[in-house]
This record gives sequence, C-alpha cells and structure tokens, in this order.
Amino acid sequence: MGKLKLEHKYFLITGADSGIGKEVAVLFAEEGANIAIVYHSNKEDADKVKAEIKGLGRKSIIIQGDVSDYEFCRKAAEQVVSELGGIDILVNNAGVQFPSENIEDLEEENIRKTFDSNIIGMILLTKVVFPHLKGGSAIINTASAAAYQGHPELLDYSATKGAIVSFTRSLALQAKPKGIRVNAVAPGPVATPLTEETFGEEKEDLSKPPFERNASPEEVAHSFLFLACRDSAQMSGQVLHPNGGLIVSG
Ligand code: NAD
Repeated sequence: MGKLKLEHKYFLITGADSGIGKEVAVLFAEEGANIAIVYHSNKEDADKVKAEIKGLGRKSIIIQGDVSDYEFCRKAAEQVVSELGGIDILVNNAGVQFPSENIEDLEEENIRKTFDSNIIGMILLTKVVFPHLKGGSAIINTASAAAYQGHPELLDYSATKGAIVSFTRSLALQAKPKGIRVNAVAPGPVATPLTEETFGEEKEDLSKPPFERNASPEEVAHSFLFLACRDSAQMSGQVLHPNGGLIVSG
C-alpha cells in the first residue's frame, strides 16, 4: 500500500453525520486523518460515523451544535484542539435548502435559516479555527453548481453558495502569507438526504453512466481529498466542479 495522504492530520468537518460530509469523513480517515465531526441533530448517525472512523484505527470525536451560533463555534474549536490534538484541515460542509417555485412564496424564516447555516456559520467557524491553523493547513468549503448555473427553485440557497465562492477566493488571498490554502468544491446534484428530502429524488442508480445520474457522495468526496492533501499544494482560491458535466466553466 502507498503512503497515506492525510497521515497524522487533524480534521474538523461540519454536517458529517450525513450525505457528502459523512463520506468525506470516512475517506479522510481511510487516508490516515483523525476526525472531529460537528453534527446538528442526528446523534445516532454521528455515533455511527465515529464508530466507523475508530474501526479504521483513527481518533474521532463528535460535537453537537449549530454553526450559526458563535459561542458554539468558539467552544467547538477549543474542544477539537484539546481533545483531538489540533486542527490541520477544516471542511465547512453544513448546509440547508428550502426550495420554492415562486419568489413570493419564500418564507422569511427559511431565508434566514439558509443564510445562517450556509454562510454565517461558515464564516464564524472559520474565524475561530483560523488561529489554530499552521502553514500547510487547508480550508475547504462546500459550494454548489447552483452558484454558477443558478437554480429556479433555490434562489436564496444559490445566493449563499455564490457567497461561499467569493469568501473562499478572498480568504485565500488573506491566508496566503501564512501558507494556508483555501478552496471550494461545487458539486452538481448528489444523491443525499438533502436532495431526497427537498426534491423527493431517489437514491442514485449507479448502473447509469456518471454523466446521466446524480453523483454518489463517494464520488464527490474525492474532490475534497484532493484539495486537502499535498496533491493540490499549488492550488488556493480555486473551485473544483464534480458535477457530471453540468457546467463546463467557472
Ligand atoms: P445532508 O442534509 O445530508 O447534510 C447536510 C448536513 O449539514 C446535515 O448533517 C445537517 O444537520 C448539517 N447542518 C445544516 N445546518 C447546520 C447548522 N446550522 N449547524 C450544524 N450543522 C448543520 O446534505 P448533503 O447533500 O450532504 O449536503 C452537504 C453540503 O453539500 C451542503 O452544504 C449542501 O449545500 C452541499 N451540496 C449538496 C448537493 C446535493 O445535491 N446534495 C449539491 C451541491 C452542494
């Protein structure tokens, strides 16, 4: 077996009890990382991911909370450093969406929840984690193809994902002198609880060719791995687009 890509690295990821985040956490553990999982509501699933990571021989802790709560973020960063051992890689992956066919039907509460979870939470957690990062560390933010091609039923969501891309580029410039890389992944449709709950879409049919179906979370997780490890040492302020050819530029 070749050298592991994330051996002895400490990794904090949000929304890792489910969907894309869960697959990223398990893949990173397979590559040697020790992992702190932030989950919001599903302890049972977070416990399962933690057990899977421990089964791979890595250290793992789970932390419950809402990333849009600054006090939670501050305490979570301290807890990861003291209990896990440090932070080398941060993946801001938590996100919500509330589709609406008409702008008139958008509910104020849902617009605020979308901005709180997707944008405010990402900025707050990054603010408190950043001082713990060292040269060679990486931040990866989960954007979306919706930021580039738009989505008729996800107006507020696509706006938050566009903001994630802008934040990623700006922080990459600020973090450059410290040797910290900041990138984003902008998946197209992925078969996860998010798409199943909001659009009623069924699990992916892997017998179909990749470009004719929703991606599986595993397929998308490899873009995160690339941005986390030294294979992407020359990349910062960039966005990877695992989207089945949905958009061809960005
Ligand atoms: P998911 O619903 O399986 O996972 C989202 C996770 O974020 C959940 O664990 C949820 O509890 C957590 N979360 C939401 N708000 C939170 C908050 N305020 N504090 C803490 N945790 C919170 O969905 P997924 O598809 O795996 O989504 C992961 C990310 O990928 C999201 O940012 C989503 O926008 C993005 N994305 C998904 C798709 C897709 O088609 N599934 C496409 C592009 C981008």
